[in-house]
Amino acid sequence: MKIEKNVVCTFCGCLCDDITLTIENNNITKVEKACANGRGLFEGYDPHFRAPRVNGKEVTFLEAIKEASNILSSAKYPLIYGLSSTSIEAQRISVQLAETIGASIDSTSSVCHGPTGLAMQSVGEPTCTLGEIKNRADLLVFWGCNPLVSHSRHFARYSAMPKGRFISEGRKDRKVVVVDVRRSETAKAADLFIQIRQGYDYEVLLAIKALVKGKAISATEVGGVPTELLQQFVHTMKSCRYGVIFFGMGLTMTKGRDLNVREVFSLVRELNNYTRFSALPMRGHGNVTGADQVMSWLCGFPFAINFSKGYPRYGPGEFTAVDLLSGGEADALLVIASDPVAHFPAGATRHIEKIPSIVIDPVESLTAKIATVYFPTAMYGVDCEGTAYRMDSVPLRLKAPLERQRKSDEEVLEAIFEGVKEC
Ligand code: SF4
Repeated sequence: MKIEKNVVCTFCGCLCDDITLTIENNNITKVEKACANGRGLFEGYDPHFRAPRVNGKEVTFLEAIKEASNILSSAKYPLIYGLSSTSIEAQRISVQLAETIGASIDSTSSVCHGPTGLAMQSVGEPTCTLGEIKNRADLLVFWGCNPLVSHSRHFARYSAMPKGRFISEGRKDRKVVVVDVRRSETAKAADLFIQIRQGYDYEVLLAIKALVKGKAISATEVGGVPTELLQQFVHTMKSCRYGVIFFGMGLTMTKGRDLNVREVFSLVRELNNYTRFSALPMRGHGNVTGADQVMSWLCGFPFAINFSKGYPRYGPGEFTAVDLLSGGEADALLVIASDPVAHFPAGATRHIEKIPSIVIDPVESLTAKIATVYFPTAMYGVDCEGTAYRMDSVPLRLKAPLERQRKSDEEVLEAIFEGVKEC
């Protein structure tokens, strides 16, 4: 029996790095400190060897690589998608592969925080680390997110509850405000809940910014929120020592999208004339931040990139996976650690069924079940080392507490890359 301490959980963007695992016969028998989502990731994992498959039949690794390389090298408009649940080492090779075969490459960012990337590029990102928040923030605003459900340990470990260097009493020293269209679990635990009408985030943000600037508003309510309540909220923000706005898909995937996020960033910039303020997206997948980082370093853009002309072109809405698949444009698909068949609209899913596809994933997803070629790989942070970026863009090295019996995503991608070059 082996006890492995300080393991990183890669389920969500919190990347909690204090998990303790008990391991017997290369199986995880006990998980401590993780939330229910994290426990599911470790407890349900089977590290045993499984052979790759081509058209549902088990084959050797080399046969599977040959088939995958043939599919990608003969495609005219291939698409590489996923990337948010693998290591940055695998993400880097995926970009190299996309460049070599002239593919489009897109991550799950395009269906969650893509608008945040667009807003960052237009007005800059007033960011900070979770460590700064833990030690300094006395005001936390959660806008369009429900961390008590989606990022269960965020409250306890990084934001509302922990005692910090300048927050000696933890939760007693902090004020929590939730802005949302419904009273979520997080809203029930907040000191102040501001309920806005669905689709009115942009208007409410503009009104708040005007009030911060000292302008008068003649309307009695904006987006379903009484102006008096907005004034109270503005007073709370201007009088805190250090505030943070966390925002989620309730803001990025509603009417206004990147314009909403741009308003959050410019509001934060305005608030910095009065006090110290930052904003941070609540990233979902464990290494979706890494996918944005790697693609930005290598291509200058965080997602929705196309290499068909030999250089990277950026096209959210054009080179994003849902659009390329729904429009029937992609003629081959490589999926890395993602399950578009389970999550994409029906039109996109129907097209995936028609084209040859390759799936690299430790979990046999719905997309893996219908793939032409499927590589069952090791899971990074469990039986495979790697690097991942936490939601605040802090990179963490991932251990491999279990002995590895399957190839890593990186190894499979490297072999496909070599195979494609030979083709
Ligand atoms: Fe894992 Fe996220 Fe839960 Fe932390 S909050 S244990 S990273 S699922």
